[in-house]
Amino acid sequence: MSLQVQPQVSLKPFNTFGVDVRAQLFAEARNDADVRDALAYAAERDVPLLVIGGGSNLLLTADVPALVLRMVSRGIRVVGDDGNRVVLEAEAGEPWHPFVQHTLALGLSGLENLSLIPGTVGAAPMQNIGAYGVEIKDVFAGLTALDRQTGELRDFTLPECGFAYRDSVFKQHPGRWLILRVRFNLDRAAHLHLEYGPVRQRLTEQGIEQPTPSDVSRAICSIRSEKLPDPAVLGNAGSFFKNPLVPAHTAAQIKAQHPDLVAYPQADGQVKLAAGWLIERAGWKGFREGDAGVHKLQALVLVNYGAATGLQLFDLAQRIQKDIAERFNVELEMEPNRY
Ligand code: FAD
Ligand code: NAP
Repeated sequence: MSLQVQPQVSLKPFNTFGVDVRAQLFAEARNDADVRDALAYAAERDVPLLVIGGGSNLLLTADVPALVLRMVSRGIRVVGDDGNRVVLEAEAGEPWHPFVQHTLALGLSGLENLSLIPGTVGAAPMQNIGAYGVEIKDVFAGLTALDRQTGELRDFTLPECGFAYRDSVFKQHPGRWLILRVRFNLDRAAHLHLEYGPVRQRLTEQGIEQPTPSDVSRAICSIRSEKLPDPAVLGNAGSFFKNPLVPAHTAAQIKAQHPDLVAYPQADGQVKLAAGWLIERAGWKGFREGDAGVHKLQALVLVNYGAATGLQLFDLAQRIQKDIAERFNVELEMEPNRY
């Protein structure tokens, strides 16, 4: 067995909140054989197995009584090419942003709006990652996962993944599917999405009228870097709450009280509210207690100034949820996965 299992490993370097908890057992999987070895190792000792990638969507509130398996498998290959469209397959442990940069260097369009998202390829389908009007469902060609109940490999097509806003069948059934590799439909011709947020404005400011996918990626990287804390500098897990979808009459009631409410009507009649606006309006932006806080520039991001525990961050999140429910009658749902 090539898998190296270590006892009592600090997970501080392996979660972007920088929370210092311990894994009972820890190993890294470089390939499918390591994954199978880890499953067998955990089953023999009757310990649960928790798969992680970059740890950028985790809130760890206690030591983890499990074998924590970090996916570090690498490899990117072309598995389809009809002259216009290329299907690229990437191993689960490939870091996401460098993978996006790789697709752009190959002259392929599709992932540019998803630039600078931390984490790994294998975790991207978990919550159907999205930013600036694109979600991975828009470019998804398929994935291969290991069914942890049966030990069999299964290929998933787009409809089988149940992708929705920050959701998927994989998130709905935690611990069932271990994603090994993901395939993406990418285009040689650019089909750009520039209408979301300040993307077009940033390109215009840069004097770019006919942007390439790489121009869009650079613009998005610059917007994100100005607003979002770099986890290497300040611990965080990105947006801490999902943007709530509410009935149109609820949005109208809030808007009557707060005409500047940021709200986006959806095709199904619901309205998506900007959770960051609600939290900022409730006065939490820049709040700090001990080392747990709400980011000064983006109220949707909870931050760890150094030594906050996962429980302190969770407690802060619960206080914000309660306050938003009382003020606006809106339930905020946590986005990171809590263990
Ligand atoms: P982890 O945090 O390691 O794991 C997340 C979940 O997936 C866990 O439940 C884990 O068990 C499971 N998992 C991980 N790998 C696998 C696998 N191979 N098979 C099965 N299950 C697995 N998200 C967005 O959607 N859009 C954004 O724009 C965005 N911006 C962010 C900005 C910052 C600064 C940060 C810190 C986070 C941001 N995120 C964003 C959240 C996060 O980066 C993404 O959700 C990312 O896909 C998580 O990847 P990861 O490898 O770090 O997953
Ligand atoms: P923003 O541009 O300030 O916008 C605030 C919110 O309004 C966003 O969350 C976005 O919802 C929504 N929005 C903006 N323009 C919209 C439009 N034209 N149509 C519909 N909804 C619109 O947001 P931000 O915080 O700087 O983030 C920018 C993008 O990166 C967003 O897409 C955001 O989701 C993504 N992001 C995600 C995370 C994460 O951890 N999940 C972290 C950082 C950034 P949506 O979130 O639904 O897009």
